[in-house]
This record gives sequence, C-alpha cells and structure tokens, in this order.
Amino acid sequence: MNPFDGREIWFLTGSQGLYGEDTLAQVAAQSQQVVAQLDGSSDIPVPIAWRPVLTDAGGIKAVMIAANADDRCIGVIAWMHTFSPAKMWISGLEALRKPLLHLHTQAHRELPWATIDMDFMNLNQAAHGDREFGYVQTRLGVARTTVAGHASEPRTAERVGSWARAAIAVATMRNLRLARFGDNMRDVAVTEGDKVEAERHFGASVNTYGVNDLVKVVDAVPEKAIDDLVEEYFESYDVVDALKGDRRESLRYGARIEAGLRTFLTDGGFGAFTTNFEDLGGLRQLPGLAVQRLMADGYGFGGEGDWKTSMLLATLKAAGHGLPGGTSFMEDYTYHLGPGPQRILGAHMLEVCPSIAGQKPRLEIHPLGIGGREDPVRLKFSAAPGPGVVVGMCDMGDRFRLVGNVIDVVEPDAELTALPVACAVWEPHPDLATSAECWLMAGGPHHTVLSTALDVATVDQFAELTRTELVLIDESSTPRSIRRELKWNAAYQLLAGGLR
Ligand code: MN
Repeated sequence: MNPFDGREIWFLTGSQGLYGEDTLAQVAAQSQQVVAQLDGSSDIPVPIAWRPVLTDAGGIKAVMIAANADDRCIGVIAWMHTFSPAKMWISGLEALRKPLLHLHTQAHRELPWATIDMDFMNLNQAAHGDREFGYVQTRLGVARTTVAGHASEPRTAERVGSWARAAIAVATMRNLRLARFGDNMRDVAVTEGDKVEAERHFGASVNTYGVNDLVKVVDAVPEKAIDDLVEEYFESYDVVDALKGDRRESLRYGARIEAGLRTFLTDGGFGAFTTNFEDLGGLRQLPGLAVQRLMADGYGFGGEGDWKTSMLLATLKAAGHGLPGGTSFMEDYTYHLGPGPQRILGAHMLEVCPSIAGQKPRLEIHPLGIGGREDPVRLKFSAAPGPGVVVGMCDMGDRFRLVGNVIDVVEPDAELTALPVACAVWEPHPDLATSAECWLMAGGPHHTVLSTALDVATVDQFAELTRTELVLIDESSTPRSIRRELKWNAAYQLLAGGLR
C-alpha cells in the first residue's frame, strides 16, 4: 500500500489585480519556478500541482472548495508572492478543510543591490505580503505549518516534506475504516474510548465484528492460498526446523489466518484492525504471524481491542511510507535500570511489526500462556538501532491526548535467546526516569506506536493539523515543565473546545 499513490499537493499563489497583466504573468512564471524547485526534491513524497495565481476572494474560495472536494488533494500550500490583501482570503480559509502550509519564500536569493528599483520591489514583496497573510490566518485561528526559506535550500524542502507526511496522515485518518474483532480486554481502562468522538474528531470509522465472522472467512481459505503463503514464508524468513517437521500444520493454520484476515480486510475496505486474546471464537491460534505481516504491509493494529493505537499506527505508517526505518505496534514491557544506560524493553504477546527488524526474522512456534489456544506461530527479531519516537493516544473523557517521547532504539545488551517474541530496546530522552515520570503524569498509555521512520516534527504537525493535544517528552522536558504544561493544556483545551 503506497498512501501517496494518486495524491498531490496544490500550490496556491496569492496576488491582486493592482499590478497589471505583465506583473501577474511574472508572478505566475516565478511561482511555477518555485513549484518546480520543490517538486524536484526527493524529500517531498508527493507531486506538487501548480494552480493559477489568485487575485480575488471569489477565486480563492472556489479553489479551496475544489481542494476539499478532490480526493487526490491532501493539502494546500499558499504563498503570497506579492501583496494579496488578506480580507480576500477570509472566506476561502474558513472553507478550507485540508491541511495548510504557509510557505514564506521569494523567487530570488540574492538582492540585485546595484540595480534594484521600485519595479523589483513591487514584484518581490512577499516579505510583507506573507505578513499580511500570517496576520489573517492567526486572527482566524487557522491550523497550519509555516515554513520560511528559499525553495532551493534543502531545509525548505525537508520542512515541506515533513508537512506533506503529516498531511497524508490526516488524509489516512479521515478515511480510515477499522475492524475490531471482539471488544476490548475486560476491565482495561486506557484502551477504551469514545468511538463517536473518534469519528467526529479524526474521521476514522471504528466498528466491531463478531470474531466468528472472521472465522468463517478463515475456514474458507483454499489450500492453494495456504501453500503459496507457506512458500513465501520459507523464502522470506529463517524458519525453525519444528515448523518444517511435526509442527508444519501449525504453520499452515497461521497462513490460513493470514489469508482469511487479508480477505476480510480487503473486502471491507479496512486499513486497520484489532484482536483480543480473550475473544478468539473459533480461531485455533491467537493471530501472531498474520498480524505481523499485515502491519508490515501498512495495516494498523492494536492488541486487546485497542482501536486507538491501531488507528494511530495505520496513520503514522502512512506518514512514514518510503522512509528508512519502520513503524510498529509496541508496548512498554520491562526495564533495564543498570548497570550501564537505563533502557526500556518493549514487546507484545506476539505482534511486533517486522518493518523495524534489525535482521532477517526467525519464524518460530512457542506456547502462549494466556488465551487457552494452540501454540501460535510468530516472527522473532529485535529492532534495528536508530533514532525514533514512541507515540500513544488516550481518551481523557473530553478530548484525545497524544503523548510522545523522543527515543533512541539500541541493540540489546545481549542476545535474547530465551525470549520467544520480537522486541525493541530503547533509551528514552532525556533519560528513563524523567521520561517515565513525565509519561505517567501525562496519563500516557502502555500501548504505543514506535517509529524509527518518522521524526517528531511530523507527529507534532499531525497533532496541530488535527487540533489534537500532544504532550511531547524530549531533551528539554523535566517533570516540572510537563506538570505545568498539562495544567495549561487542560485550561486551553477546555477553552478551545468551547461550549456546545
Ligand atoms: Mn497489550
């Protein structure tokens, strides 16, 4: 699944009728040049489509409404090449429902000091034209990303690319259909939440199916489909001998689950799902391998009915598509508190995505103490080292909160030979004790999305564009700073939410 297939960003250039046709022709030519420069950058994962220069309120509103209606368009970049009186933009900005980036740039790099005249000044006046536009956006409270810099500078394209990834995250979340097989794990608090509010706030549609609806599809999988999948497993992974011999039937049943799940999700147009080991109906194994491989293909997943983490995973996987590294469902499991650097060991019962693997996964079979079913097949590996982020979502009752932590995934201190599941080991910023204290104060969940593909800037913009609270724990965080941030956020969120 490539979420950027068939998608584009629209580039809008603001001006006005005052300057005459010749100047507007130059504005058009120069803004096309800016688009060409940005469009040539490999940091921007989606094409940028130039739109004709805008000079009046009617044209501005019409293009915003067209952007809303066009499924290809994931976001809009706006640049005020000249002076575009911003009252003209009010109705258009209020109509716009797609993510916005305000690009503050100019056509030239160097000033032609010796030859500069008033014609040059009048043509190249984004320095104040964009200030006029910034004012009206701020006055209207428009959620957006603001990027300043020349189009030829790598930083500019990187910032636009990061926003484009946040924009595809927004599009993915808005259109997501999530299938829950069974309900949440009994008595668990943080995996619960308001699915009506999730659809209102994020657009994601979350619905529950009886597990045996899935079992029917799993049981109907033809033997040939199982043969093909098993062959693929042998090509892709190091398969333990037991699965080639007397446990081969367990592997074939694992393949049957995968084929059935794929069919169910494809037929229903689902991009994410959940399972619950307490509610497996007629399934003979807890889905492990199948979940891992579906995650690797971009599907969102949450264990124990955790639909919030599942939709967040699908969303952040889309945002990170094509970047080095990977993105997985994760759970903080246990700590190494020394000697040496303090670290978190994250894993789950079975379901860690091989996109984060540091080596060829091993396909293994082991008993599972909970769930009371047959031994499930699973991929085992540890995560590749590198900088990353963990993000969790919780429902605070009156709003959703994202909690994020900047991390470094590291090699385990020793090979985890006795651990029967895939895992990741990481050092949270600024250090384990501070990170954990802040995370706990923020009420962050134990299920998260771990990504070594995305950086925190994209997550931050996703939060801003969807007007979702983000409590970010990074190098600068202290328990005191986070405690104060939580109090301020509580007041802000109440005010920003308004009365209904
Ligand atoms: Mn769990």
